[in-house]
Amino acid sequence: MLKRVRISVLLLICIIITSMFCTCASTNVLQQSIVGPGVVEETKEVVPLVGTQVIEVATESKIYIHDGIAYVKGEDKGKFSLSGYCACNKCGSGTGITASGKPVREAHTIASDWKVLPKGTVIILENAVGKDGQIYDGVYVVEDRGGGVKNNHLDIYRPTHELASMVTHYGRAYGNVYIAEEYRPVTATNSNIEN
Ligand SMILES: [Zn+2]
Repeated sequence: MLKRVRISVLLLICIIITSMFCTCASTNVLQQSIVGPGVVEETKEVVPLVGTQVIEVATESKIYIHDGIAYVKGEDKGKFSLSGYCACNKCGSGTGITASGKPVREAHTIASDWKVLPKGTVIILENAVGKDGQIYDGVYVVEDRGGGVKNNHLDIYRPTHELASMVTHYGRAYGNVYIAEEYRPVTATNSNIEN
């Protein structure tokens, strides 16, 4: 009798230990799938155009990923008027090759006044809504210029003439321009920052 009680008590302890172990194991798996090794937690992704991935870290703090490079907003260059152009011979040379020698690219190529934003400048465009309702926010690179593009004016490359004309659509469109600075999430000392 005493032996039988001992066995059942042992069995009960075994069941309790096993169930505890199982609970712990499943909890661990769940935690691993939620908490990843990423630097940024609880990110919200917003994708306005094809060319730029935007990660909203917190209010007023966004990381813009373009061509695999992460950028944050740098110097505020102010409000720019926006227009669109395409690779047709009405809009320009008709070759699809920009003044910098690079081919036009959607959600990437912009023309500017090179005295205001020089060739190669990477910018972040914000609060930029065309008259067609399209949001043009994102990262762009100055690779082109144009006779009609003077002062605070950006001409955004669009893949068709119709889409290009829809940026302004006989009205005026504006956006805020910031210099894009490469985002360096790792704390670095002055000696290992490459200039
Ligand atoms: Zn055109």
